[in-house]
Amino acid sequence: MSSASAGENAAQAAARLRAELEQHNVRYYVYDEPSVSDAEYDGLMRELEALEAEHPELVTPESPTQRVGAAPVSAFGSVRHVVPMLSLNNAFDEEEVVAFDRRVTDTLRGAGLLGPAQQADYFCELKLDGLAISLRYEDGRLVQAATRGDGQTGEDVTSNIRTIKAIPLQLKGAAPKVLEVRGEVLMNRADFEKLNVAQAKRDEKVFVNPRNAAAGSLRQLDPRITAKRPLRFFAYGWGEVQGLPGTQSGLFDEASAGAAEASELPQKSHGAMLAWLHELGLPVNLMHNHRATGAEGLMAFYAKVGALRATLPYDIDGVVYKVDSLPAQKVLGFVARAPRFALAHKFAAEEATTTLLDIEVQV
Ligand code: NAD
Repeated sequence: MSSASAGENAAQAAARLRAELEQHNVRYYVYDEPSVSDAEYDGLMRELEALEAEHPELVTPESPTQRVGAAPVSAFGSVRHVVPMLSLNNAFDEEEVVAFDRRVTDTLRGAGLLGPAQQADYFCELKLDGLAISLRYEDGRLVQAATRGDGQTGEDVTSNIRTIKAIPLQLKGAAPKVLEVRGEVLMNRADFEKLNVAQAKRDEKVFVNPRNAAAGSLRQLDPRITAKRPLRFFAYGWGEVQGLPGTQSGLFDEASAGAAEASELPQKSHGAMLAWLHELGLPVNLMHNHRATGAEGLMAFYAKVGALRATLPYDIDGVVYKVDSLPAQKVLGFVARAPRFALAHKFAAEEATTTLLDIEVQV
C-alpha cells in the first residue's frame, strides 16, 4: 500500500510525511501543544512506516520511525541516559497482538526458553497517558530526574520532580548504590479540569488534555509553579541498577555502565522487579497490573481494561504487554526505538480526538 498522493513519488511522499511528523513532534514534545489528535499522528506514522517497508532504501536514521521523542530543550540542563529511554511498538488490533505473541513464542522456543507446547507469560500494565521520567537514586536518595527527551538525552527536571509528593525523596529499607526508576508522571482528569478552569480565570494558558497539562506543568522553569500542580507518578520500569545491598560490587563504575547489561538486578521477572520497587517505597499500579499467558490472555486483559477505562481517574491510551521473564527479555532484545519484548496495544481513536479542544496553538 503506497501513501503517495497523485503526482508524488515515494521519496517525495516520505519527505512530506517526515516533515509533517517532525512538526507534530515539536508541538507535542517541546511545546506540549499538539495540533492534531494522537490517532491522526499515529495514522501518519503508520503511512510512513508502510512506505519505508516498501522502499527500505528511503529509511534514514533521522526518520521519525527510527527516533524517539524530540531533542531536549536547552533551557533545562541536559542529562545523558546511561540506559536509553525507548518508545514502545504499537498494535491497533488483535491480529497485531497475535503476531507479536507468535514472534515472541517462536524466538523463545528457538532459544530453548520455552518448551514446544509452552506459551509465553506476560506482565500487563495500563498505558498511562502522561510523560516518561527517569528518577536516579544514589544510596537511596533522589539525586536527579530527567525527561525522556530523544531517548539518549533528556532534560534535567530534578527541582520540579522534587515537588511531586508521590515521589519519595528517600527510599525505604536497603536501597542499591544506584537505582534509576522509570515511570510516568500524570495528572488526574478531575485535577486537569480544575486547573484549566483556574487557568482560564487568570487568562493563562489552558491545556489540551491531562497529558499535556502534566508535561507542561513538569517542564516549568520555575519549580514553584510545578509545586502547585497536582502531579502523580507510577513506576513501571528501571534503568541502571548497581550495587545491590549485600553484594560486593557496591561501587558504581562509570566505565562499565553503558548498557542495560551493566545493571545488576535482584529479581528475575518484570513483575517481581516492580514488587521490589514498591517495597522501596515507589508508587506502582498494583491495582491494575496483571499476569497473562499467550495472546488469548493478552486480549482478555485488553477487554477488561477497555470496560473499566471510563471509570479510571486518569487517562490511558492503551495497555502495555511485557514479556515477564527478564532472561527472555534479554534474548528478545531491541529494535531501533523500542524493545522487542514489549507491545503497546492502543485503544480505538474516538476518545483520543474528543480531548482536543479547539484552541489556538502558538508555536
Ligand atoms: P508511546 O506513547 O506510544 O509509548 C511509549 C511511552 O509509553 C513511554 O515513553 C511511556 O511514557 C509510556 N508508558 C505509559 N505507560 C507505560 C507502561 N506501563 N510501561 C511502559 N511505558 C509506558 O510512544 P511515544 O514515543 O512516547 O509517543 C508516541 C505517541 O505519542 C504517538 O503514538 C502519539 O499517540 C503521541 N504523539 C502525538 C502527537 C500529536 O501531535 N498528537 C505527536 C507526537 C506523539
